[in-house]
Amino acid sequence: MALKVYNTLTRDMEDFVPFQGKKVNMYVCGPTVYDHCHLGHARSYVSFDVIRRYLIYRGYDVNYTSNITDVDDKVINRAKEIGEDPFILSRKFTESFIEDMETLAVLPPDTRPKVTEHITEIIQTVETLIENSAAYVTPKGNVYYDLTRSEGRIGILSHQTVEGLLEGSGNRVEVEYDKRYQLDFVLWKSAPEGEPGWNSPWGWGRPGWHIECSVMSMKYSSGQLDIHGGGMDLIFPHHEAEIHQSESCSGKHPFSKYWMHNGFLTIDREKMSKSLGNFFTIKEVLDKFSPGTIRFFIVYTHYRSTIDFSEETLEEAGKARKRLLNTISNVKHDMKEAHEERNDCGLTELVTETREAFINSMDDDFNTREAIGSLFVFSRKVNSIISSEKPGRGALENVLRFFSEINDVLGIFAEDESNASENMNNGLSEENIMEIIRLREKARKEKDWAKADSIRDELKEKGIVIEDGKDGVRWKRM
Ligand code: AMP
Ligand code: ZN
Repeated sequence: MALKVYNTLTRDMEDFVPFQGKKVNMYVCGPTVYDHCHLGHARSYVSFDVIRRYLIYRGYDVNYTSNITDVDDKVINRAKEIGEDPFILSRKFTESFIEDMETLAVLPPDTRPKVTEHITEIIQTVETLIENSAAYVTPKGNVYYDLTRSEGRIGILSHQTVEGLLEGSGNRVEVEYDKRYQLDFVLWKSAPEGEPGWNSPWGWGRPGWHIECSVMSMKYSSGQLDIHGGGMDLIFPHHEAEIHQSESCSGKHPFSKYWMHNGFLTIDREKMSKSLGNFFTIKEVLDKFSPGTIRFFIVYTHYRSTIDFSEETLEEAGKARKRLLNTISNVKHDMKEAHEERNDCGLTELVTETREAFINSMDDDFNTREAIGSLFVFSRKVNSIISSEKPGRGALENVLRFFSEINDVLGIFAEDESNASENMNNGLSEENIMEIIRLREKARKEKDWAKADSIRDELKEKGIVIEDGKDGVRWKRM
């Protein structure tokens, strides 16, 4: 089966065929850095990280660009509020964002361009748009994209009618500007002297938001993108504006072949966002949950579906992930005693089948939910095989290699996590376990069956199973 991608542009599942063979130019809108990032941001960047990692897994050569919006009204207003220099503020939160992404094992982009480092190119692009009669300058020194030029293409990505968009734009901030047509969008905003800005042919000012992504995405690709990504809230006006201005500037259609949008992370069914104040920063969530659990929580939902956040669902995610970690730990444990001889016990075939299921799900518009579902089935079968048979070392190694192959895509386990749980068994060393088993033996001798059973249940909760055999008591990890 070929890889299929849901394209917001066509509202259809399409075969994934990049412009140039296996080369994929991918651009994902980065954060506006005026505060610490919240879990909604993590949802977007982890989702696109898994998409990127899967493309690499499937042999694509991915060139991944994701920007930093380090100058913007929000940055400037926040800086004013707290009396800090806006550029120092944005640098601080850029660092905080990069640190969060590293902790969450999000691969760094090949290029992470900042707006403030691309002002010259932005001004040049705006000049080109004016030369192409796609933009106009107002007496106040603002420059707008002239959307009447794109008649027939308005609503191309949002699939809304002009009337619908006009109605919806009534509340937007841009209305306060001096544009000719309500749906025109700003490319360059004049700014009062003393406010952060740059000199331009139209006076002191700074770029509008949309233009930065066109300029930086075209600069770091071949002028056209295979995939452009971001959260659903960016479809309109941000991404639609990018299409109009990029195509008017480069003359290349389509600006991006596939448009992909992640669903929201919500709290009580409302989008987590800074403006609503209903957010938990990534750092706050990391105080309670491991990076692997947070990633698992995100990728155990399809990237286009909504995730409703609660501590309970994160805890559930942690438990579910632990089941997979326990299997890895069990296999590692058994490898210590495994013989060299080729006693496969069906494990190799099981790995092959599961790999196929994993790829089929991921090829279906990156269906991580279903892909992880097949890992749970795999994990249960592996546990059952190793608890009843004695697979050889090669077969066990194959299982571990497969987990690591899957983890290259999902990034849900840290490198030494299963070793830690193997050594510690949920905080219990092997001596601790033997000691507890001796206590249970004592209770059994004294015919205190309730105590013996409760010890057994306690161990089970920690992933340790006790088996009473002819030669005495044996224990295993679940
Ligand atoms: P911003 O800094 O608000 O421009 O957001 C950066 C990226 O994070 C955009 O692609 C947003 O769509 C995405 N994003 C922000 N909040 C959420 C959320 N609650 N759920 C999913 N994605 C979000
Ligand atoms: Zn953008």
